[in-house]
Amino acid sequence: MTARRRTRRVRVFAASATPEAVAATEAGEWLTYRWGCAPDGYVTRRQLGALGLCPGGRRPGAEIRWGRGFKRVAYLYRVADARPKRVPSAAQLAALGKAMAARRTCTRCGRDVGYCVPTSTRECVDCMFPVSGLVAGTDRAWGAPTATQWAGEAA
Ligand SMILES: [Zn+2]
Repeated sequence: MTARRRTRRVRVFAASATPEAVAATEAGEWLTYRWGCAPDGYVTRRQLGALGLCPGGRRPGAEIRWGRGFKRVAYLYRVADARPKRVPSAAQLAALGKAMAARRTCTRCGRDVGYCVPTSTRECVDCMFPVSGLVAGTDRAWGAPTATQWAGEAA
């Protein structure tokens, strides 16, 4: 019987933000810190966002690992390298609103149905499943009530 050899991954953890560990991180070495041991000046992406900053294309400088088997990970960005968050212009916001309106508009009845219609059909639920009619594009009868009928029954 042959014993199956297991490959064991050994990971070196920096126990805490010791001066040596911080110096190595500052020098560009990739270090893994334990939970609660992030060096000063290094924060997660969410924390950068709370400060009104973004990574600005820079890679993370270190990571925190925790949990069972240290599988959970958070990447740490250097605050000093962060850039201010980009703010969308009025034209960009208008374009986004237009694009979202197009996603909510049914191609069959042309209404803005208030939810994003499926990309496969681009039709609203009422058009896809008319009451005791046929499913659009098939010869299958479908007697399910429409969304508006469901709403009417509930009211
Ligand atoms: Zn429709």
